Amino acid sequence: MTSKKITVFHNGDELSARTYDTLKQQLTQHGYIVSGEYSPETDLIVCIGGDGAFLKAIHACDFPPCPIAGINTGHLGFFQDVLPDDIDRFIQQYESGEYNLQRLNTVRAIIETEDGETFEHIGLNEITIKGRHSYSVHLFISIGDKPIEKFSGDGLIVATSAGSTAYNYSVGGSIADPRLNLLQVTPIAPMNTTAYRSFTSSILLPADLSLGVVPEQRENQINIMNDGIESSYTNVKSIEVRVSDTSVSLIRLKGYDFWSKVKDKFL
Ligand code: NAP
Ligand code: MN
Repeated sequence: MTSKKITVFHNGDELSARTYDTLKQQLTQHGYIVSGEYSPETDLIVCIGGDGAFLKAIHACDFPPCPIAGINTGHLGFFQDVLPDDIDRFIQQYESGEYNLQRLNTVRAIIETEDGETFEHIGLNEITIKGRHSYSVHLFISIGDKPIEKFSGDGLIVATSAGSTAYNYSVGGSIADPRLNLLQVTPIAPMNTTAYRSFTSSILLPADLSLGVVPEQRENQINIMNDGIESSYTNVKSIEVRVSDTSVSLIRLKGYDFWSKVKDKFL
């Protein structure tokens, strides 16, 4: 039998580095080949840290097809089920297949500039669209090609269900069960006056509808954030945001329950 390859990332803090040493030692004893560098032959990725470290690892591997497990070392830890003291149980349950794979959908933005160039970004949590620095931004919004509103405010978050508990939740968006494959479009400080009219609550879109965004003429810079990674664009003609074909498979151990996790972390 060829050995399984496991890639392990950690976020560099002391506990995570110690947890990495323990995990590597135990996995090696169990006959696995452990590496700190991702290659496409990897059978499993383990990420030690918090949600930020988890997102970083996923982006570093460019949304890998193999399963990913998270070990939480004292951060919020929405994507993690394992604690540093649970490594024995984790390896035992991984080997006996006592886990479920949670498939998380991602969101994709395609940016087209006036020069005809296109750029693509994928987010596991969300795609956020904002203007230049901290100025308000004015965006024409369409849904499935139908013009809907001109948004004015600080920006828009287009969150997946997995990302609904992150930035989306901080600005008043709803918590969505990750079994729902949808996009939640949440306004950040929308203006509502006789001068400007925007939706004040989140709207929910099914997976087969896309959101079209056309910046008003005066917007000379648009900032796009995918999972907190910022890119700036000038001369943006349009942005299309939709559910992406890419998904992430998260290892969920026995006992995982989304709503219990929400209660534990937020209430
Ligand atoms: P960060 O600004 O250092 O931390 C943001 C916080 O969000 C951390 O506590 C992080 O957990 C938590 N988080 C990340 N994904 C989550 C999820 N799916 N559900 C619940 N909580 C989650 O940035 P970061 O750690 O690199 O994470 C990037 C994310 O930050 C972005 O995708 C965006 O959602 C979020 N963000 C939030 C705000 C806000 O709430 N006002 C503003 C900008 C960005 P850990 O402590 O475990 O890392
Ligand atoms: Mn963080």
